[in-house]
Amino acid sequence: MGSEDSGEEGRADLHLHSTRSDGIHAPAEVMRMAAQAGLAAAALADHDTVDGIGEARAAASSLGIRFIPAVEVTVGFEGRDIHVLGYFVDPENPGLAALLVGLRRARAERLRRMLARLRRLGMPLNGSEVRAQVPRGATVGRPHLAECLVRRGWVESLQDAFRYYIGTECPAYVPSTTSSPEETLRILRAAGGVPVLAHPALYRDSEIIERFAAAGLLGIEVAHPRHDPAETARLRKIAAELGLLETGGSDYHGGGRGDAPPGTQTVGMAAVSALEAAHLQLADPGGGK
Ligand code: AMP
Ligand code: ZN
Ligand code: FE
Ligand code: FE
Repeated sequence: MGSEDSGEEGRADLHLHSTRSDGIHAPAEVMRMAAQAGLAAAALADHDTVDGIGEARAAASSLGIRFIPAVEVTVGFEGRDIHVLGYFVDPENPGLAALLVGLRRARAERLRRMLARLRRLGMPLNGSEVRAQVPRGATVGRPHLAECLVRRGWVESLQDAFRYYIGTECPAYVPSTTSSPEETLRILRAAGGVPVLAHPALYRDSEIIERFAAAGLLGIEVAHPRHDPAETARLRKIAAELGLLETGGSDYHGGGRGDAPPGTQTVGMAAVSALEAAHLQLADPGGGK
């Protein structure tokens, strides 16, 4: 990317995970890695939680990089999970907090259902064994489950766990689908969060972009480790056509859970300014008039 540069220096990685969900590094450590990579700005976007934002914000401040509070929420759409990023979200917003509590509960229930499926496939695991992989209070996710399948020797790698058992097309997969696009995006926007569709190319369905745009989506993630250059170009074209913002990030988790390190997928600071302008517009649609 780079054509969007408008005089502001530096690059931003807008998609990073921490131990508050399924990443392996603490929020402060993730920010340290972002600073180490020479980034001017970074966003922590954990799954269905804003718990890491305080720690990451403080770390970013002492490291001298710009921090963007974010979250990656799970949305239910046609029987599958869709991930929506929310930028500049207010982590104290009560409506958002209630949404996130519900989403984490849905994940706990979904884990039980996935464990039942694994048991039927001859892989009996206890919930407590999976929860032992999850830091206290953090969002449970499929990577934690994948870790257990590797430890038990049922698969050789996290990738194989997803490929054979827990990936979206696999026999032990269950979506955690709860809240609808309309409801989720309304709550996200009311909390000041600019809704951006995460890694759209993973869904292989450009209809999803139009459908979510109608529900209040304001941007799409164009730069992502699982988008090849052709996908990124295609998505940029769609963004331009639909008047959506463009974002990007490494979706770093660490430990083989998504190994593109911080700084490997970025956008220019003009993209951050555009997100911030959209955020201010959400908070004050009249522009102060
Ligand atoms: P969940 O939100 O619980 O459905 O888990 C989603 C997470 O699983 C993503 O953020 C990735 O970290 C990881 N993941 C999804 N698909 C794969 C895959 N095919 N290989 C490795 N990790 C994956
Ligand atoms: Zn994840
Ligand atoms: Fe995601
Ligand atoms: Fe992610």
